[in-house]
Amino acid sequence: MKVAMIGGGMIGLSIGYQLSKQGAAVEVIDAGDPGMACSFGNLGWICPSLSDPVPAPGVVRTSLRWLLHADGPLYIRPGAVPHLLPWLVQFWRHCSPREYAHGQAALMALSRSSLGLFDALALDGVDCELHRQGLLLAFADRQEMQSRWEELKSLADFGYPAAQALTQAEILDLEPALSTRVLGGVMLPGEYHVRADTLSRALAQRIIDRGGTISARTAVVDVESRGGSVRSVTTPSGRIQADHYVLAAGAWSAALARKVGYHLPVTAGKGYSVTIKAPRTRFQHPLYFGETRAGLSPYADSVRIGGTMELSGINARLDPTRIAAVRRAVRRYLADDLEGESETEWVGLRPMTADGLPVLGRVPQHDNFFVATGHAMEGISLSQVTGALMAGLIMGGSTDLDLAPFSPARFSR
Ligand SMILES: Cc1cc2nc3c(=O)[nH]c(=O)nc-3n(C[C@H](O)[C@H](O)[C@H](O)COP(=O)(O)OP(=O)(O)OC[C@H]3O[C@@H](n4cnc5c(N)ncnc54)[C@H](O)[C@@H]3O)c2cc1C
Repeated sequence: MKVAMIGGGMIGLSIGYQLSKQGAAVEVIDAGDPGMACSFGNLGWICPSLSDPVPAPGVVRTSLRWLLHADGPLYIRPGAVPHLLPWLVQFWRHCSPREYAHGQAALMALSRSSLGLFDALALDGVDCELHRQGLLLAFADRQEMQSRWEELKSLADFGYPAAQALTQAEILDLEPALSTRVLGGVMLPGEYHVRADTLSRALAQRIIDRGGTISARTAVVDVESRGGSVRSVTTPSGRIQADHYVLAAGAWSAALARKVGYHLPVTAGKGYSVTIKAPRTRFQHPLYFGETRAGLSPYADSVRIGGTMELSGINARLDPTRIAAVRRAVRRYLADDLEGESETEWVGLRPMTADGLPVLGRVPQHDNFFVATGHAMEGISLSQVTGALMAGLIMGGSTDLDLAPFSPARFSR
């Protein structure tokens, strides 16, 4: 059975990897180089304990406050508002406590087997820079810390390792590079983090080892569909045919979905990172900075800071103001400036749905066309579970988990 994967980000590669493991002939077709779009410079957290949909109660109020500050965690480009309006209206509708609870339960169920699937990668020869130090949340505001603690203190009830509240002395003991402005924190001891590019590379290699093909710098420009079946996809170098097709083109997926008349309301949530090579300051844990929503991930040869959410449509323009905002959002929590041998600035487009849930399953009215996107802030975290579920669906027609909350048909109008 041949499966053509449209998009070779972390999602496409993870599905391709699982499919090739189950004996499918996989062709990954990517407009650029696999793993080099949003899946490249992210923070790499694998954090099932933070299974929160982006639309949440209070988000609209907080967002409006952030919008008044040029370097707040959220920025909406005024010129993009008319185009984004239908998506924004849907987003606001999903901020009710009921929708949030529904979304959170769905994401928690989806991410339950996530860590186990990451553990299984090494056993299958997928060699990547994976760390298992947990995730540390640092707070400079006592009220913010308390409200986050209220949400996280019952994690053990859901089968996750219990969150631990930390005093200022305890968190500074764990991470001496933090500033004394940090008043305390929360340790999530079960979480992992990965250097995403090492994982993309290893997955692509494993697909090739199993006889698959990676077609890089080959954009899919059309999808030919007849009688409820996709017959081929068109690229500048010719048509590609397969038994099944998977749309996993991240933030670019909506345009391709339109080719078969499928309305997929996915937009881009732009984020930025700076990777500091050979940093003079070392960290033991990935850090989430509670009030500014920025984060930091330590790797073998570098440290990466990242964050912000910019809604400005589908474009990869790197805005220096937003990069400066990320730097300030992190600097507030550190005792000293972060300096190293060299720095690389990066921008990535998170694929965002208005209800905060990924889209996983068969494209409506199609028997051999599937979609897997919309993972927003959790595309790395949910990559392996997405790969396993989608491969099960494509190869066997069903999955162990009820995928109804993620149904591609929920946007039908
Ligand atoms: C600053 C930042 C920090 C983040 N931190 C984390 C984190 O800590 N943990 C986490 O889980 N997630 C994190 N994320 C989110 C995560 O990076 C994304 O959810 C994830 O990378 C999305 O993967 P993807 O495969 O769907 O999309 P992408 O990686 O963008 O891949 C889509 C691919 O499709 C290809 N494509 C596009 N159009 C076409 C076409 N026409 N034909 C063929 N191919 C095409 C592109 O070239 C691209 O390679 C972060 C994101 C940002 C921006």
